[in-house]
Amino acid sequence: ASERLYLGMDFGTSGARYALIDKQGTIHAEGKREYPNYMKEDSQDWALSWKTTLFSLLEDVPVHLRPLVASISLDGTSATTLIIDSKTGEPLARPYLYNESCPDALPLVKSIAPINHTVCSGSSTLCKLVSWWNNDDSDKKSTMLLHQADWLLWLLHGQLGVSDYNNALKVGYDPEADSYPDWLLSQPYAQLLPTVKAPGTSIGHLKGDIRTQFAGFSEDCIVCTGTTDSIAAFLAARATKPGKAVTSLGSTLAIKLLSTTRIEDARYGVYSHRLDDKWLVGGASNTGGAVLKENFSDEQLEKLSEHINPMEASPLDYYPLKSVGERFPVANPKMEPRLHPRPESDVEYLHGILESIARIEAKAYMLLKDLGATQVDEVFTAGGGAKNDKWTKIRERVLGLPVSRATQTEAAYGAALLALKGCQ
Ligand code: ADP
Repeated sequence: ASERLYLGMDFGTSGARYALIDKQGTIHAEGKREYPNYMKEDSQDWALSWKTTLFSLLEDVPVHLRPLVASISLDGTSATTLIIDSKTGEPLARPYLYNESCPDALPLVKSIAPINHTVCSGSSTLCKLVSWWNNDDSDKKSTMLLHQADWLLWLLHGQLGVSDYNNALKVGYDPEADSYPDWLLSQPYAQLLPTVKAPGTSIGHLKGDIRTQFAGFSEDCIVCTGTTDSIAAFLAARATKPGKAVTSLGSTLAIKLLSTTRIEDARYGVYSHRLDDKWLVGGASNTGGAVLKENFSDEQLEKLSEHINPMEASPLDYYPLKSVGERFPVANPKMEPRLHPRPESDVEYLHGILESIARIEAKAYMLLKDLGATQVDEVFTAGGGAKNDKWTKIRERVLGLPVSRATQTEAAYGAALLALKGCQ
């Protein structure tokens, strides 16, 4: 018999992807789809767009590989929330998107949650739930809250009301106690909260009607709980030991470190997601590639970088920001961007910016250690900056650690690893 395969799907902000891998992590097929633009009452019908895209991705899985798929998992954007009919699974309202804010609910949420809790942000899932609860006058008897990933997985396994503790963090789930806290359970809307499992837990078999619609998937194919998009992207790098970290050098700089201890510090926007018996500690700085993009095209970045000597420290001390304000590793909403003096040579200027971002990255890992996280011992890199080998060498020198490009960075690949986990 041929080797079994594991299917992961990623529902990101602009589109969805799938990756089909084997036990060793080799990719057998992958693909992507953009979200179709369906309208309903003058606004985009996101639920229908996602559902259609889910089915398109299943359609895209090569027919000859479908019988080999042993399990499926997927990730969605964090805090993307659906209120659904708990009998039919149909959305009762327009989905709340990940970045949507419900400031009307904030005072109430702040009055019930512990100070500085992750739910105390207008875009948290809990604020979305409270806002719907207080503003919608429909009958609320048979209603349920699901995250985007939960709902899409439900379409595949048919068991309504299941989530994972990564998606459930922003609705207030306590991943350490592995339960909803009492301050949440005592609220009238607590009845809407889904059951929570570890990411990558087998929930049920792929539904018969899906197997009929997409011929070839096997009867024993299971569907597992998912996670959020940024965690799936971390999982893709396969940094599975404490001390391993992933730095994301995209428009901004984000770091994620696998730690044996949980760190939460609202001053710096640092919080931890649970990953089985470990913690994924994360923080995001406002520095990053956005400043590079303002000054140089991607081609210029490549050309100029060739002339940088990464073994030499740049004396230029910048704090590259696109606008005023920084949160991590320095909490200062009034911090001004610092990109002066600008030398005549663009090579020196770029070297100074790259070196300065590397110093901020080093400071970020230092701060996590000071806050009590496991000390970092190796850094993998994702995002547009990962392809710059000179920058990698600069970062190795400044961080004093081995730095390399992550082999896999697609969230869909991380979701496929979760599917694999669910089979073991
Ligand atoms: P986003 O966060 O927008 O998804 P990406 O991961 O696509 O970002 O990375 C884009 C960023 O990478 C841009 O800000 C760009 O300036 C930067 N970038 C592109 N090429 C290079 C390079 N060779 N060296 C350093 N940075 C680069």
